[in-house]
Amino acid sequence: MIAGPNAGYAMVEASRGCLHKCTFCSQWPYWGGRWRTKSPKRIADEMEHIYNEYDISFLWLTDDNLGLGKRTSDLCDELIKKGVSDNITLFLQARSDDIINQKKLLPKMRKAGNYWIMAGLERHDEKTIGNYHKGIKPSDSKLSMDLLKENGIFAQATLIMGDRNDSHSSIQQLRDFVNYVDPDLAIFMVLTPFPGTDLYKKADENGWLEEDNWANYDMVHAIMPTEHLTVPEVEEELYLCYRDFYGSMKRRLTGVFSKHNLIAT
Ligand code: SF4
Repeated sequence: MIAGPNAGYAMVEASRGCLHKCTFCSQWPYWGGRWRTKSPKRIADEMEHIYNEYDISFLWLTDDNLGLGKRTSDLCDELIKKGVSDNITLFLQARSDDIINQKKLLPKMRKAGNYWIMAGLERHDEKTIGNYHKGIKPSDSKLSMDLLKENGIFAQATLIMGDRNDSHSSIQQLRDFVNYVDPDLAIFMVLTPFPGTDLYKKADENGWLEEDNWANYDMVHAIMPTEHLTVPEVEEELYLCYRDFYGSMKRRLTGVFSKHNLIAT
């Protein structure tokens, strides 16, 4: 549906792992803290093959952090040189600091077919982001989303709620922050202690885990209470985050009148 009613859709892996070490993230422990990459030419060859052989134009880069920079610039050059960039739509995940540091690359990424970027902005407060070892600044969030929009790239943000220190008031501050940052799409996720993460170890040691059904470790069900909220209260707050962001009349009208094919409803 995202790429159009009859469009094909495929996932492409350009790298595995990540060199950052966020405490909630299961990816870097899973891949042993290493980042292994395919060459830009190999990635572009795979994309060209998928488009030409299977007529699939929507390509989802599965990398948790593509890592913007020379490698991505070279990938864009390859796609443009092959002549497939006008026909494909690329989705990828990047960090807000990389988006800002590599802002000069954004026009080329858009030209190469990158219509959609998702960035984990995570939180409104530096203290919590610091606890997660994420290494980004909340003050960069708005600039990163604005840069994407200015370059015609659909700006998606993901946010974390249900932190151990969260209260009704701190989650309201998160909602206010997201409304200010104003991404095209916001996904709110309950802080989930996936096995293998630093967060899981800490939660297990402290007896915070209230759920042992792995099916509910989905970032929608709350697994832990906070110091101020019960598990049902965290889940109620998640609902309020979505209602607040998508219930706004301004956003509904934006969806109706937008000429951007990913925003228009
Ligand atoms: S959350 Fe993103 S930046 Fe942090 S370790 Fe995981 S993939 Fe890397």
